Amino acid sequence: MNKKNNILFRPWKKLKRLQNEKLRFFITRHLYPFSRYYRELFDKNKIKPSAIRTVEDLQKLPFTSKKDFITLIKRSPDRSNFAFLLEPNEELIRKFLPKSELLKFFLLGLFKGKASLKASLDKEYRPIFLTATAGTTNQPIPFLYTSYDLDNLKICGKRVIEIMGINKEQRAMNVFPYAPHLAFWQTVFAGFAANIFIISTGGGKTVGTKGNIRTLLKVKPRFLIGTPSYVYHILKTARERNLNLSFLNRIILGAARVPKGFKLKISKLLTQMGAQEIRVFGTYGFTESRCAWVECPADIGAASGYHTFPDKEVFEVIDPLTGQVKGEGQDGELVYTKIDGRGSCVLRYRTGDIVKGGIVYSPCPHCGRTVPRISNDIVRAANVKNIQLSKIKGTVVNLNTLEYILDNNEAIDDWQIEIMKKDNDPYEVDELILNVSLLGGVNKDEFISSLNQEVSASAEVSFNRVNFVSSLEIQQMLEVESAVKAKRIVDKRGKISNT
Ligand SMILES: [Zn+2]
Repeated sequence: MNKKNNILFRPWKKLKRLQNEKLRFFITRHLYPFSRYYRELFDKNKIKPSAIRTVEDLQKLPFTSKKDFITLIKRSPDRSNFAFLLEPNEELIRKFLPKSELLKFFLLGLFKGKASLKASLDKEYRPIFLTATAGTTNQPIPFLYTSYDLDNLKICGKRVIEIMGINKEQRAMNVFPYAPHLAFWQTVFAGFAANIFIISTGGGKTVGTKGNIRTLLKVKPRFLIGTPSYVYHILKTARERNLNLSFLNRIILGAARVPKGFKLKISKLLTQMGAQEIRVFGTYGFTESRCAWVECPADIGAASGYHTFPDKEVFEVIDPLTGQVKGEGQDGELVYTKIDGRGSCVLRYRTGDIVKGGIVYSPCPHCGRTVPRISNDIVRAANVKNIQLSKIKGTVVNLNTLEYILDNNEAIDDWQIEIMKKDNDPYEVDELILNVSLLGGVNKDEFISSLNQEVSASAEVSFNRVNFVSSLEIQQMLEVESAVKAKRIVDKRGKISNT
């Protein structure tokens, strides 16, 4: 890799200048003119697009959130796919683009004909692809890509491959579920762009775990990419069959926060199957970003943070209560702004994800890249539930905390949480039940008391009941093989619940 020409190694000062330039350009030439939603937002707040000259100026603008998206859909359900979409037309082009740009369009039309002008606009702006959030309860939120965005997905994919240190001779296997989700497609496009061999099996639902293991043994990839639950399931099944997987030592997980205990569990399984020098990577990304970020290789105990791309996006960290922008390295909520895209684009988008350790701007001590890095201690927005554990009041329980504790516990093979009504009575209090399969040689009583201590200290709740089940039973409960997403948390309270 030639560091000299690689944009991700340029001094931060230069990158920051480039980021500001791209932000300005994007807002004045694309977002404001062609996004109905943002044009109205700027106008309503009496902010001129030219007033946003630097990243700091973004603070003049209000945030966008999932709520705004839902309001948009409710207002015009037939246009639900078009929220935040850039949609140019002749009138908007004439009205909002500067004269120099208009001249370019005019000349193109003059020399190549109006049809050619239309075709070039069509290529840049027509949505041809989408990925959506895997909403289990809410309406899935689709984000559209044009061919311009697919090029960006490739650029991002190529960078991600470089950062993780995958080279052309090494093969990879993708076991993300085959679905319109960013994780699956980012991986596919990364392989295309970096010119490396990645086999995408589609996960458990398509060829089953047997099929995945057969492919693993045939292709002998060095890298395995997928969701934590499914990757663990494949490795555990392979271990039960005493297979030799000495070729596999890089595991990439579609999860922003991978507990050390879980990394050690994966690493132990692989060591038992002959692998050495194992590395486990987390990744970060969301539907709205249409791009994913990764860590560079570091020891299991260390973490380099997610390497972002300042020429494609801006990240801010804010106080989730006041909205105030935080300083370098400070905790807060991640806010995302696209500065180079077409299709569905968002500005100051509140991800709801809380990052401990914020963003740092010093060069990465592991690889030397100079891009802003997001701490890998991220708690995702999903999974916050209101649970009524007593008759008096409901408690807001962050199930992420519980997930983290359970994943980090090295005594646990696998687990599932059920939330139900006491005695199945809809007017009763809620109960929190843990179904768990333990690894061999663990004392059950000691396990329960130490787990409940840890859970009540960090999440201020405790399990009403712990059911011990076998490894096979928990796999069936989780539907690890057939579901797109393992059924980790099952809410069985029915509709009467006010959550
Ligand atoms: Zn690095």
